[in-house]
Amino acid sequence: MQRPWYAHYDPGVPHEVEYPEVPVWHLLKESAERYGDLVALDFLGHRLTYRALWESVQRFAHALQATGLEPGERVAIMLPNSPQFVIAFYGTLLAGGVVVNTNPMYTPRELAYQLQDSGAQTLVILDLLWPRYAEIQNEHPLKTAITTGIQDYLPFPKNLLFPLKARREKRWVHLPQYPWRHDLKTLLKRHAPTPTPVPTDPDDLALLQYTGGTTGRPKGAMLTHRNLVANVHQILAWAPQLERGREVILCVLPFFHVYGMTVGMNYGIALGAKLVLLPRFEVKEVVEALEKHKVTLFPGVPTLYVAVNNFPGIEQRKVDTLKVCNSGAAPLPVEVLEEFEKRTGAKIAEGYGLTEASPVTHSNPVHGTRKKGSIGVPLPSVDAQVLGPDGQPLPPGQIGELAVKGPNIMKGYWNRPEETQQALKNGWLLTGDMARMDEDGYFYIVDRKKDLIIAGGYNIYPREVEEVLYAHPAVKEAAVIGVPDPYRGETVKAYVVLKDEYRGKITQADLEQHCRAHLAAYKVPKQWAFKTELPKTAVGKILRRALREAEAAEEEQA
Ligand code: AMP
Repeated sequence: MQRPWYAHYDPGVPHEVEYPEVPVWHLLKESAERYGDLVALDFLGHRLTYRALWESVQRFAHALQATGLEPGERVAIMLPNSPQFVIAFYGTLLAGGVVVNTNPMYTPRELAYQLQDSGAQTLVILDLLWPRYAEIQNEHPLKTAITTGIQDYLPFPKNLLFPLKARREKRWVHLPQYPWRHDLKTLLKRHAPTPTPVPTDPDDLALLQYTGGTTGRPKGAMLTHRNLVANVHQILAWAPQLERGREVILCVLPFFHVYGMTVGMNYGIALGAKLVLLPRFEVKEVVEALEKHKVTLFPGVPTLYVAVNNFPGIEQRKVDTLKVCNSGAAPLPVEVLEEFEKRTGAKIAEGYGLTEASPVTHSNPVHGTRKKGSIGVPLPSVDAQVLGPDGQPLPPGQIGELAVKGPNIMKGYWNRPEETQQALKNGWLLTGDMARMDEDGYFYIVDRKKDLIIAGGYNIYPREVEEVLYAHPAVKEAAVIGVPDPYRGETVKAYVVLKDEYRGKITQADLEQHCRAHLAAYKVPKQWAFKTELPKTAVGKILRRALREAEAAEEEQA
């Protein structure tokens, strides 16, 4: 069937993408063959060419095999963006292992859960984080631990990453001499770049990507080599005007999150781009890197663009090399998009995705019609529809649950057949997001299904209220949740961060009045909290869940 969205594809973008049935590490191998002398990674001044990176990856794979790693065994990687992350990621896959991306911010308890659930017995971990593992070591013995110091890949021993606090912490880090603990750099020196080839089927598992902390315990989305390679090729096909071997991509989104991993690392490597790695988010470092490295691609999230918008003197910075900024992971308020484009002259293409889809399923066209507030149209080889409560597709304009289908959709959740069955129906992934499609085939995310607020029988989508708040010039960040109310069941509560220059000048009454002018009375927040910051995930998504939990804890205390 001819889908309406095809009409909006940029010239040269195919409807269906042809992707090679190869393992993920092939993306790197191919770029190393084509662009061996080009810089693959730039990490705070230390550069690694594609050839050198591929060689390190092969050495790492060989070393893992020497530790006895069997094909299909899980390897947890707990590292910030760094050359070591890229080496461990591709090296694990080349050795036939399955990567388990592990957030370096995890507490010992969260790490224990992930090791337990995934069954990973090999852990690649930043030396500074060792104490987190040490705390749970007795319950979770490992077969192999590989530690690495972030400074191993710095051109000189500066500790930019973890300044004073961590330097102090480092003195505490005691790395015990176990026969099963190895130092990554030493391993790379000892092992030749000659791993034993492991036959890999496209449908073999490549990655367990944990997600869904909002509904109980996180689940491991099983992403295969096919899923990850297909998503990279879908994105490559989406932007044919980008030039292989010539782009510079700013990788500040963490690689341990699916968005940074695919759109930053895997896509960047397949493109033969220079990946500028930033191990943490500091707006000053982001702006300086954009300028210094003449960045052409900047995948980000809305809170990142908000921070750039508020960076003093951003208009004077030379960021005119930027070709595309992809925004995803959370809704991009129209105000934020417009302000970013006005201040930087760059262009944002909002897209959408989720862990279970490796992750990208939709994007606005890079050169064609962008619709502000929309996530755009499905990528090549992705099919999408909006389903009613009976599971039947709804006509344009009606709100229902978004379902997607394509080669990038996960195999299921690791060891969770019931949840897999609920999420995957006849090859369609139910996203848990409420959406609508317009007559042209552009999709709009209304909100998460489970974030819907029901106040006095009325449905209120927090996002709509947040959009109105963002439209007020004093508002830097906003989040809206439902809180218990004896009369209405739930009522609307707004959390607001004001821009510095408006602090003390704008009152709750001003914002209430602004909301009343733009929203039906039942949607206007009845409770307000003014904050200096809002809780965010590692990728910069504002965490409504954390706000709800804090609210519930306060209720309990009262
Ligand atoms: P994750 O699996 O952590 O990547 O989260 C995926 C979720 O992020 C989706 O199910 C959406 O709720 C949300 N999301 C991603 N992109 C967008 C977007 N452009 N607009 C609104 N929500 C988004």
